[in-house]
Amino acid sequence: MIRVGFRWLERGSCRHPQVMTIKGGSLCPVDFPALVGVIEHPSRGTFLFDTGYDPAFIKATEPFPERLYRWTTPVEIGAGEQWQAWLARHAIDESQLAGLIVSHFHGDHVAGAARLAQLPMYCARAGLDALRSGSRFARVRHGLLAALVPQAMDAQARFFEDAAERPLPSAFAPFTHGRDLLGDGSLLAVELPGHCAGHWGLAFVTKDGQPVLLCGDAVWSGAAIAQNRPPPRVTTALMGDTARYRATLAQLHHAHCHNSELAILPSHCPASAARLRGSDAG
Ligand SMILES: [Zn+2]
Repeated sequence: MIRVGFRWLERGSCRHPQVMTIKGGSLCPVDFPALVGVIEHPSRGTFLFDTGYDPAFIKATEPFPERLYRWTTPVEIGAGEQWQAWLARHAIDESQLAGLIVSHFHGDHVAGAARLAQLPMYCARAGLDALRSGSRFARVRHGLLAALVPQAMDAQARFFEDAAERPLPSAFAPFTHGRDLLGDGSLLAVELPGHCAGHWGLAFVTKDGQPVLLCGDAVWSGAAIAQNRPPPRVTTALMGDTARYRATLAQLHHAHCHNSELAILPSHCPASAARLRGSDAG
């Protein structure tokens, strides 16, 4: 695979009782950072994997019923999470941004999508369809805020489902194939079903030779993968499909147990992010 630069950076956070995210967890609220992948391709520019939180999230959750989302998931978006401030803090050159890769359309993953409205948006057709269908209330119940992704962006969509399938290196087993987003084998989208409609991860190898699987919200923590411990059924059934969720988790658990070099990074797990930074320039 063509190797890419990679950083895994926080942009805002939210609070959930831990028990919602892992069986047997505590009732205490825990902070979950929203992590954004900054992927530097050697010749095609910089791609973001998700956007984390953005002040646009506050605006989108002002009206009812969208406000329910913010009530049930209190969000922390600091001054440093403003778009320009966040780019500057991490020395990301906005003119080099070449596309947005969307794991899924939950509000905490696409809150900043409008900042990238002119760029290609790599995403699942099933996810975008879900964002555009159903009542406002039903969408909020599923964690979807259609206002965060301007309708004009639909014309920029490059669907995972339409990309050519390519084999993955053995380091990603039992995941064997991915969808080749750029046509050069550098970034392969891997379907990780169950969390919600159109939920995908991203496989690549960093400049240092580290294989990485960004797994979005397939789990909330690396510990859940290591222990094959899903959230309670009530959480997974609310937004997705429990049987498919658990089958995906079992695959991630298998990958974790059999590929010691593979970094599997959930979008809200600070411990996994810290471990990666420990072994990588991060
Ligand atoms: Zn999600």
